[in-house]
Amino acid sequence: DTPRDITSIPFAHHGTPALLTPAERGARTAEAPFGSVFTEHMVSLKWTGTDGWHDGEVGPYAPLVLDPAAVGLHYGQSVFEGLKAYRTADGRTAVFRPHAHGDRFRRSAARLLMPELPTQTFVHAVEELVRADAAWVPAEEHRSLYLRPLLFASEAHLALRPAREFRFLLIAFVTERFFGAPRPITVWISEDYARATPGGTGAAKFGGNYAASYAAQARATAEGCDQVVWLDAQERRWVEELGGMNIFFVEGTGAQRRLVTPPLSGTILPGVTRDTILSAAPELGLPVEERPVSVEQWREGCRQGRITEVFACGTAAQVSSVGTVRTADGDFTVGDGSPGPVAGMISDLLAGIERGLAPDPAGWMHY
Ligand code: PMP
Repeated sequence: DTPRDITSIPFAHHGTPALLTPAERGARTAEAPFGSVFTEHMVSLKWTGTDGWHDGEVGPYAPLVLDPAAVGLHYGQSVFEGLKAYRTADGRTAVFRPHAHGDRFRRSAARLLMPELPTQTFVHAVEELVRADAAWVPAEEHRSLYLRPLLFASEAHLALRPAREFRFLLIAFVTERFFGAPRPITVWISEDYARATPGGTGAAKFGGNYAASYAAQARATAEGCDQVVWLDAQERRWVEELGGMNIFFVEGTGAQRRLVTPPLSGTILPGVTRDTILSAAPELGLPVEERPVSVEQWREGCRQGRITEVFACGTAAQVSSVGTVRTADGDFTVGDGSPGPVAGMISDLLAGIERGLAPDPAGWMHY
């Protein structure tokens, strides 16, 4: 994550939105559901086959004018990212691992035959938006500014071929704890639906993956669960990830504790938080292992006390303990169903780095 030189497409500033007062901003973002109240600015870039990336702009957040035949609307040629800006304890703003998110954005675009935005331009766009909307980066613990980069096919044509015109946008909103007050979450093991298949788009942050997951998430909600757990599509046996999070298992107790997470098989989204935990956990005395875990091993491991904790991790959810697992064959509990110490340790470490209070030797915070 070493910051690279910013030699990038320029962003022109145009228009000034009517800015909210701090009190108005506070009222608007208090209790706002995830992703519902957006900041005052957005960044925009265009790409065409003839001109490449051009027309970089930072301007007021505003509706778009789109041709009804825009490819992205019909055939879903659209990828996105999700990363966060924090207010550090000394009052500065910093973004968590923007280069890693920019690299994933490129890989997602490549999978969908879309132009790859150079990572330094991605980071430059993020810097521009955070600077323009700096007043929106909250200082309270557990609040942050969620940044949403998006790339979609804007060309008007309905032949089935990749588009030749694309639009990049970057918008932002204030976010709190994803699951509300800290509590263990309940998850639903989806045995009917599959999220990703070998050779498919599971490793890309592709819009269609999320639209296709709504039915399973609705079933999870109907079953009284917070999140769906995806299994592999072939054997319906191996745990892959959650709706918008990766998953970690804690095996053993005391000095024998270790973290286990499913390997990146091509059907799992390679989470930046997952990668961060894999890098940081050994320093906390927690060895890590990437190894498949089946539902049966999960259930038996909990019954025998071998699996002591399970937690979900992601940019939005941060670190969230799993308390109860619901399956078509009934429920089982992880540990005693309450958040465990390892999830607490990792959550504290990440929060410390994000607030600029813990050492950050890898330079994950980008100021
Ligand atoms: N899996 C899925 C399906 C996701 O949507 C996300 C959120 N991007 C994650 C895992 C976690 O990834 P990250 O840690 O990069 O937010």
